[in-house]
Amino acid sequence: MSFEPDEYRKALDRAHSHALEWLDSVPTRPVRPSATADELDFGMALPDGPTDAAEVIDELVRKAEPGLMAIPSGKFFGWVMGGTLPAALAADWMVSAWDQNSGLRYATPAAAAIEEAAGAWLLDLLHLPPTAAVGFATGGTTANMIGLGAGRGDVLHKVGWDVNTRGLQGAPTITVLAGAEVHASVELALRYLGLGMPQLVESDAQGRIRPDQLALALAEIDGPVMVALQAGNLHSGAFDPIGECVDIAHENSAWVHVDGAFGLWAAASPRWAAELEGLAGADSWATDAHKTLNVPYDCGVAIVADHNAVRTAFGAHTSYLIQSDDGPPDPFELVPEMSRRGRGIPVWAAIRSLGRTGVTELVEGLAENARALALALSELDDVEVLNDVVFTQVCLSFGSDERTRAVTQALIADGEVWMSGSRWADRDVLRISVSNWSTDAADVATSVAAVRRAMERAAAS
Ligand SMILES: *Cc1c(COP(=O)(O)O)cnc(C)c1O
Repeated sequence: MSFEPDEYRKALDRAHSHALEWLDSVPTRPVRPSATADELDFGMALPDGPTDAAEVIDELVRKAEPGLMAIPSGKFFGWVMGGTLPAALAADWMVSAWDQNSGLRYATPAAAAIEEAAGAWLLDLLHLPPTAAVGFATGGTTANMIGLGAGRGDVLHKVGWDVNTRGLQGAPTITVLAGAEVHASVELALRYLGLGMPQLVESDAQGRIRPDQLALALAEIDGPVMVALQAGNLHSGAFDPIGECVDIAHENSAWVHVDGAFGLWAAASPRWAAELEGLAGADSWATDAHKTLNVPYDCGVAIVADHNAVRTAFGAHTSYLIQSDDGPPDPFELVPEMSRRGRGIPVWAAIRSLGRTGVTELVEGLAENARALALALSELDDVEVLNDVVFTQVCLSFGSDERTRAVTQALIADGEVWMSGSRWADRDVLRISVSNWSTDAADVATSVAAVRRAMERAAAS
């Protein structure tokens, strides 16, 4: 095989025009896919020989089309998923074209410098300590693992145990405390770290951990301890009383990690200053750029106040890697991956295109649309908004659990918008997450009409 510049041009030209066709279709196509994974036509036997690259792209796009979910749509409110800002998407194409393996400052200086700049901007926007280490991981789950992994090493080090050499076998027991509505990804992260399930602390009606209960739980614990707090409850959007909990936890020598996969972005607006007071006092934070910031998958952000804690946990010091110990950390020391794409580069482009005010308006706009949806829907008969709508999340009940499930099914079958079914506070709910930068007043109106239609259909069936 030899290098044929024209092959790239032909394949990329096809990808470019298919991408624009797709993006043009997003505002008007049904949000839901029209085929299931089993129905798609990718099951052919392994081809014997080569196919022209441009033809491969045509075939890929043609066959994928019925199985695409319009996640970039302003009418997509499922789970917690952002869309893609134009600058971030275009920068992501450059990441692929440049093909920089972004682990070492020495080897890929542009990727390292861009990600360091993006990291510094993030700390500035979120009012976190400017000296914190910022690692670009695959997502919130991995970012939670990084923060808690740095904490695991640190709390054990303080009792004279080096987890890197001795592992966890025979180690002092680490107790991890988390609110009763801890996100499943924190439990996964603890599983990866060999720490098992957290000890749950009672939370209030909005899912916020109760500081008095946290204090009581901490008083019972002897030995190394970590506390996992939450900024942005998946169902209510609520924020744990972080400052108060950080103080209590630090009095008890605990490491404090904050899962802020989508909610950490509230720190970019003065509106949530009271809720997030004391946030900067935690030891580590996890967030997602692929949610609220609207960059393409995959992009999580792991922030650790103490460089050494994260470098000790995730850095490898082997002779074949060219690095210096006193300069800034190499990117690979801050995340589990050694080889990886420059996933912080679209973050730089997103923030560069929005500016400080643009990021603030993005976050505030999501919350305003959530309030507008909650308000309009609460005016429909038999619709109850179950949560205090403090951020981007809205949980609806349509009366009985059965009726809520029927409305959810009718809404998804209708396809014009997408919202997720879930269960919260012992009720089946229809959950709305406003995470897309492009959702506007027209999308809100269309979505309210779609819910009303689904209610009528559910009542008729
Ligand atoms: C989405 C989410 C996560 C997990 O993030 P991924 O990017 O999906 O790994 C963790 N915590 C909360 C609160 C979330 O909403």
